[in-house]
Amino acid sequence: MKFITIDKKNWAKGIEKSRETYRLFGPVKDKNGSFIRDLENDMLPDMSCHDSVLSVKSVLFPQTEKILFTTLDESKEDHHIMKRVPADTRQRAVVGIQPYDAKAIQLVNLNFDTDDYRDPYWCDAYEATTFVGVGINKPGPFDFSTSAGTGPFSETGLDVLMADLDNAYLAKVLTDKGGAFMVSCGFDTIADEKESRALFDILRKEAEKNISSQIDTGKLKDKTVLELHEAPFWDDIAFSCINCGTCTFVCPTCWCFDIQDEAKQKSAGRFRNWDTCMSPLFTKHATGHNPRDSKTQRVRQRFMHKLKYFLDKYDQGIMCVGCGRCVKSCPVNIDIREVCKIMNSYEKKE
Ligand code: SF4
Ligand code: SF4
Repeated sequence: MKFITIDKKNWAKGIEKSRETYRLFGPVKDKNGSFIRDLENDMLPDMSCHDSVLSVKSVLFPQTEKILFTTLDESKEDHHIMKRVPADTRQRAVVGIQPYDAKAIQLVNLNFDTDDYRDPYWCDAYEATTFVGVGINKPGPFDFSTSAGTGPFSETGLDVLMADLDNAYLAKVLTDKGGAFMVSCGFDTIADEKESRALFDILRKEAEKNISSQIDTGKLKDKTVLELHEAPFWDDIAFSCINCGTCTFVCPTCWCFDIQDEAKQKSAGRFRNWDTCMSPLFTKHATGHNPRDSKTQRVRQRFMHKLKYFLDKYDQGIMCVGCGRCVKSCPVNIDIREVCKIMNSYEKKE
């Protein structure tokens, strides 16, 4: 493992140089908050951003993506035959992301890249992407990442983990992809390995000490799906929910989508759009039947998926990295930490 020191005076020049090889993405602040954007022209990632509204998931799995297209012009031999929009396989790097968002990408991978089915849109984007995270020295009040199997200096899913040392960055190169990105920036000042490891360790421990919020998930596995599904608390949890879907849209691990076809004059496209299990329309059948037509059913689905079904199916922990975005964004203060506590401690009365 290699450690590289980057003087902040050289940062902008290095990032600029990497554009010869990479298309860059990173957090950018505007009046609505920080978002992961395409860093066009000479834009730099905001390395101090630890609370992007949306996560890096939005780069690999955009809110709206045209996946197929066709012509409706019947004079053309291939009219009405859907073809894939050519994949953008250019190398890309997302720079300055929160470390636990890279772990979230690994969780979403479990759904999009399986033995039975490989989602080409997600997988092509994933393979073309280098993930460069920056450790969070001062986690915010909604962060419960350490009890969700990750943390403010988590390395899972990252190619490079950087530490912000005021005047410099210390980069821990975790993969060959990460090494190639550093080379493309011209960052090559090797730091002492032992000292660097010790420094990362100190920063990680300091950051983790600042996390005051924890969840306990230890008993979720022992409960049966039916026991939790039929538990009496769901009406109370769902009571104030307005089914706005915000919690699912901001979540780095939510992957639900819908497909829509649109036609304009002689051309048509098929689009994949984010969708949400919190919307009644999401599960409405063409017959009019809706298997989840009540608010309680939809709220239960969200939490059961994250805290029980996923846990049982993949044995990779819960489908949550503890970023706290849903807690911060919910307009009626529904809090996954509280719901987890209720589910984890629930004992069915005989
Ligand atoms: S953000 Fe809150 S109110 Fe909106 S759907 Fe989620 S839990 Fe319900
Ligand atoms: S469920 Fe909430 S806290 Fe967990 S990863 Fe999603 S947005 Fe973050």
